[in-house]
Amino acid sequence: MAYTGVKFTCHQLSPSISYRDDLAQLNRSAWIFSQLGLSPLHDNGAYGNFSCRGENEPEFFISKSGMTPLEEFTPEQFCHITACDEEKMSLDYHGLAVPSSETFMHHLIYQNRSDIGSILHGHCTVMTRLAEELGLPITPRFFEYGTRELARAGLELAESEDFFILKNHGFISLGEDINIAARQTYSILHQLLSLLESS
Ligand SMILES: [Zn+2]
Repeated sequence: MAYTGVKFTCHQLSPSISYRDDLAQLNRSAWIFSQLGLSPLHDNGAYGNFSCRGENEPEFFISKSGMTPLEEFTPEQFCHITACDEEKMSLDYHGLAVPSSETFMHHLIYQNRSDIGSILHGHCTVMTRLAEELGLPITPRFFEYGTRELARAGLELAESEDFFILKNHGFISLGEDINIAARQTYSILHQLLSLLESS
């Protein structure tokens, strides 16, 4: 799967992103995911994207497009989204680089799940393949990354589920905060390991 960039219009408001404790935590989860094969590295970054809600609606923070999770946190790996217009597929952000290609899916989920404070998206091939055996909810079909159709399919499951699979693509973990979303993923990974060991 080639990741060639974002499929919407981005308006950069400023290149600056300030240090935040929650972003450092988000970075830590992204780095752990990349080390565990939950968000594997590729030539231009890692498969996955990571976000947490900001203080003011509809703001949130999300990893940049082509983020390579590093053990040491730098704010420049993230973008601060201040507005999203789904109709026009355009958004406003602060940050050095353009936001993740799945920013709209994160936006739609935050808009429709007021209880959710963090969204972690990764690609784990063996988890995706064994999703049914693991009893995980799965979107009805595959949609191209970064598209409105994928964002809508994700939202549909997000309305009733906190952990689900985007068919032939990857997983989404929703949590009240970053820690809860990350731990939920590790718990599924644990189930996956048990399944692999017993088969
Ligand atoms: Zn993905």
